Amino acid sequence: MHFPPAQTDDDAPVVLLIDDCRDVYRLLDARLRSESIELEHADTGDAGLERARETAPAIILLDLEMPGRDGFEVLRELKEDRATMDIPVIVLSGLSSPHDKVTAFDLGAVDYITKPFELTELRVRVRSALRLHRLMRMLAQKAQIDGLTGLWNRQYFDERLSSEVSRVARAPGPLSLALLDLDHFKSINDTYGHPAGDAVLQSLASLLQQTLRAGDLACRYGGEEFALIMPETTPTDAEAVCERVRVALEQRRWPRHPDRTVTVSIGLVGCAEGCALTSAEWVERADKALYAAKSGGRNRIVTEHLKGPATLRDSA
Ligand code: GH3
Ligand code: MG
Ligand code: MG
Ligand code: MG
Repeated sequence: MHFPPAQTDDDAPVVLLIDDCRDVYRLLDARLRSESIELEHADTGDAGLERARETAPAIILLDLEMPGRDGFEVLRELKEDRATMDIPVIVLSGLSSPHDKVTAFDLGAVDYITKPFELTELRVRVRSALRLHRLMRMLAQKAQIDGLTGLWNRQYFDERLSSEVSRVARAPGPLSLALLDLDHFKSINDTYGHPAGDAVLQSLASLLQQTLRAGDLACRYGGEEFALIMPETTPTDAEAVCERVRVALEQRRWPRHPDRTVTVSIGLVGCAEGCALTSAEWVERADKALYAAKSGGRNRIVTEHLKGPATLRDSA
């Protein structure tokens, strides 16, 4: 599986301290060393916001009283920006009035520690915010994954395709997109039951994961339809990948129905040197190729090679 470019579980989580006082940073750096975190420091609100957007830290420790933009303003900005709104923020402040605490929580802080702080307490609160961060990441990842097959879901496919498509529209390079549709799949369900159909879907999903290379993306596009996004791959190379999938599926023997093989039709579209089509147009063309594969007899690949961007603009 290829997960989005978030921190992997092996990396130490980054904790960003935004505080104008360097002594707080030195203290925390020394005393949180055993926590297997990476502590970063920004000493103004502006620098902190910039750092937060750049490095997407796991959690933020935020001072309130700072010259220039104060902690409340920083917190408000963090919570308004899509890129930073989900980062748990612990306020770390000398202000201890109930009003300041209420304001901080209202603005979206998850915790509030008053200075001077007790290190043991700070440590457990940091751990608890890190747990929250891990949970949120897990949820975000789950929302992009199809439950039955473990492949990327349609929503993630749409996001990734549009970013890959705009990349080859800007800077000419190869890209391929394949749509796969199982042949006569309804009759597998009707003849052998829905669980047998599900087993076929899961089996094709793991076949795709085994066949694809790092950087390729396998998605469940809909019911018995799958999509492959293959960045940096010419249609000729993509065709070889699809052919491996097609043949491997055709040759598979199924415990629940040993006498019945399962095949797939594939519509493939790709460019070698960039292309100015929109992502909706890419899908439309792949769909057309898939339809041609179906009407041509199924269990086959139909490929359209897209011309370079200049040619497409000329012919438009
Ligand atoms: P064609 O070769 O033209 O694609 O025929 P088909 O039978 O594959 O196509 P059709 O669109 O008629 O049927 C698709 C079937 O896929 C119908 C639907 O019940 C089944 N299906 C969709 N999602 C799932 C699922 O999650 N599990 C199972 N078991 N079946 C599913
Ligand atoms: Mg301060
Ligand atoms: Mg279908
Ligand atoms: Mg089908």
